[in-house]
Amino acid sequence: MFKKFIPTFYAKNIYEIPIDFFIKQNIKVILLDLDNTLDAYNSFVPSENAQNLIKNFKKENIKPIVISNNKSNRVSNYCKSLNIDFISNSMKPFAFKIKRYLKQYSIDKKNVILIGDQTVTDIVAGNRAKIKTILCDKLVEIDQPVTRFNRFFDKKIRNKLKKKNLLKDWRNYGNN
Ligand SMILES: [Mg+2]
Repeated sequence: MFKKFIPTFYAKNIYEIPIDFFIKQNIKVILLDLDNTLDAYNSFVPSENAQNLIKNFKKENIKPIVISNNKSNRVSNYCKSLNIDFISNSMKPFAFKIKRYLKQYSIDKKNVILIGDQTVTDIVAGNRAKIKTILCDKLVEIDQPVTRFNRFFDKKIRNKLKKKNLLKDWRNYGNN
């Protein structure tokens, strides 16, 4: 039961991970949670950090896709200037939209990684889709109201993951 919450890796935030990490693991598609992973939920335009990150992924032929439970308007407006694909209303922790997307574009699961700031939605969805995951801390302190409920459980789960030593820092990806 608890297994579904265990991420492949842990990072403080997405911006501390160098692009080499993804290249070495042969990642071709990166599924990015939006709110509190890429940017704050009330950021309507991508930050400079987010823009550079996306630019660097593209340069290395890694396809970034935003996958968000947020509404289509918020997600499409944000992604427009980045010129990237997105899946809005993604219904994480369910994985069917992820699976459908990967199937539609014939993407091999082993070349995919999902990055998000919540165990209860992002990590569970990634595990259900049988792809690699990275759990991050929330990027900024403030959550949108709808997330505050999940955050209560997320905190408990994280504590348990830490206690059981199940958060593997991305820097240790070569070691098992
Ligand atoms: Mg999030």
